[in-house]
Amino acid sequence: MKRILQSLLMIMLAVIFQQCTYSQSNTTKKENMDTSKKNPVYSRSDSSKVNISDEEWRKILPADVYAIARQKGTERPWTSKFENSKEVGTFYCAACGNPLFKSDTKFESGCGWPSFYQPISKSSIIYAPDNTHGMSRTEVMCGRCKAHLGHVFEDGPPPTGLRYCINGVVLDFEKAQAAEKKYNEGDQQNKEVKKGE
Ligand SMILES: [Zn+2]
Repeated sequence: MKRILQSLLMIMLAVIFQQCTYSQSNTTKKENMDTSKKNPVYSRSDSSKVNISDEEWRKILPADVYAIARQKGTERPWTSKFENSKEVGTFYCAACGNPLFKSDTKFESGCGWPSFYQPISKSSIIYAPDNTHGMSRTEVMCGRCKAHLGHVFEDGPPPTGLRYCINGVVLDFEKAQAAEKKYNEGDQQNKEVKKGE
C-alpha cells in the first residue's frame, strides 16, 4: 500500500513538473514576440540601408521571419494569409519596414505564394542570380536590408510580364486607410441618396 502511495505521489509530481515546464515555454514564446516589436532598424520612412550582423538579425527578428529573410528559406505553399487577400494597401518588408509592393499590383498566380507583377519602386528590390536546387532563377531581396523575399519569373501578366513570387512571412501589410475611408464615405452618400428617393 505504501508503495502504491509513493508511486502515485511520483506521478503527481511528474505531472506538476511537466505543467511548469509547459508554462515556462509559453512565457519564452511571448518574450520572443515582444522582442520582435523592439526591432530598432524597422522603419517605414527611413530609406537608409540597413547593414547589421547576422547575430543581430537573429536577436531582433521573429524566428519564422529570420529563417526566410536571413537564411533564404521558403515558406510552405498555400500557407500565407496574403495569398488570396484582396485588401487595398501596401506591403512592407517584415524585417526592416521598406515599402515593397502595392496591392493593386498583386494578382492570383495560383502558385501558392503571394504574387505581384511590379515592385513599388526600383529601389524596393535587389536582384541576384540563384542557381541553387538545380534551377536557374532570379532571387529578389529587400532593397534596404537585403532580406531574402522570394524569386521573380518571366511568366507574369501585363504590363510587366513578371511574377514576383514572395514569401508572405517576410511581408507586413497595412490597409490603405485613406482609400478605405473615402470608399466608406462614398457608401454613406449612396445610402443618403437612396433615402432621398
Ligand atoms: Zn528589408
